[in-house]
Amino acid sequence: MQSISPETIFRGNDAWEKSLTQIANLTKSPLILGRSVHTNKIRNKIFTDLKNRELNVNFANLQFDCCYEDISKVKEIILKNNHDAVIAAGGGKVLDSGKYVAEILNIPCITVPLSAATCAGWTALSNIYTKKGQFIKDVALRSCPKVLVFDHKFIQTAPSRTLASGIADALAKWYESSITSSTIDDGLVQQAIQISRVLRDQLLINGGEAFKDEFKTTSCWKNTIEACGLTAGLVGGIGGEKCRTAAAHAFHNAITQIITPNKFLHGEIVGVGLLLQLRLEEMKNNNKLAGQSIKQLLVLLKELNLPTTILELGINVFENQNLERIADFSCRDKSEIHFLPFEIHKKDIMEVITNFEQQKIKI
Ligand SMILES: [Zn+2]
Repeated sequence: MQSISPETIFRGNDAWEKSLTQIANLTKSPLILGRSVHTNKIRNKIFTDLKNRELNVNFANLQFDCCYEDISKVKEIILKNNHDAVIAAGGGKVLDSGKYVAEILNIPCITVPLSAATCAGWTALSNIYTKKGQFIKDVALRSCPKVLVFDHKFIQTAPSRTLASGIADALAKWYESSITSSTIDDGLVQQAIQISRVLRDQLLINGGEAFKDEFKTTSCWKNTIEACGLTAGLVGGIGGEKCRTAAAHAFHNAITQIITPNKFLHGEIVGVGLLLQLRLEEMKNNNKLAGQSIKQLLVLLKELNLPTTILELGINVFENQNLERIADFSCRDKSEIHFLPFEIHKKDIMEVITNFEQQKIKI
């Protein structure tokens, strides 16, 4: 079974207002789930608009992350108050938690992404972390959200940093899916890979300009946020599991194991993971094109003010056995790194990371 997309998608400047009738038909008592205080104003608007439709609405905020502790607290609140739907309004962690809890309680989930940082508003997938933000596993859900509300005026309020992060995460789709899945003889998978290539091209063309668009109104900005928040999700939906992740996400998952004082966004870490994956392809699979892709991507990542080394993510790999820990986690049995079409051992990863972190990157 494959769930390709949310049942209904509202997009554009008035997406939220347009979705109200359908939401009111779907639920009489939704729980609005969020996390950051910076987006409270939007959740208050969501609350008021639903109250005006005579719905019995309640709020809950994640305390930590998309972690089992928060998920079970949210589950208790829903059961205690007899809520019949979850409206997850926030970033990727909020969306993933909302989808997960709705699935275990068998109630519909409505996703309202408040940034373009991930495609979590679309996908039938939740990434589970510890309270401290260390990746544990991803869980495939039975279905994509019931309704996705991709309201541009909400996303306009998000910091530019979230858009940069979304661009890096969406770019990874092509580099990960094309290397892991190009030999799969399944038309849908091949077409998903083609979409991810078009998505990459669009981000290479528009990403920098969209990031600098102060007023966030140009078609370049709109195309870019939809590429990150919608098309990237569509690629995962059509392509299925093997189209989603490979080494870039395996490195992300491993890097999150090291706890740092400053938290980085998912795509910011994936961007570094993507460069590492390409270096791995170059050094261990003699792929000359990978070296060129690194140069091409570095130009964009720098333009987007994104980190390009693990050190820039606040981690010195040459201290505290960090290198060993990252290599262990990224090479563990269950790791997506083993979807690569060549064998990878822990020593390869240690060599590639050492080389990568030591090299003065020139563009
Ligand atoms: Zn991702």
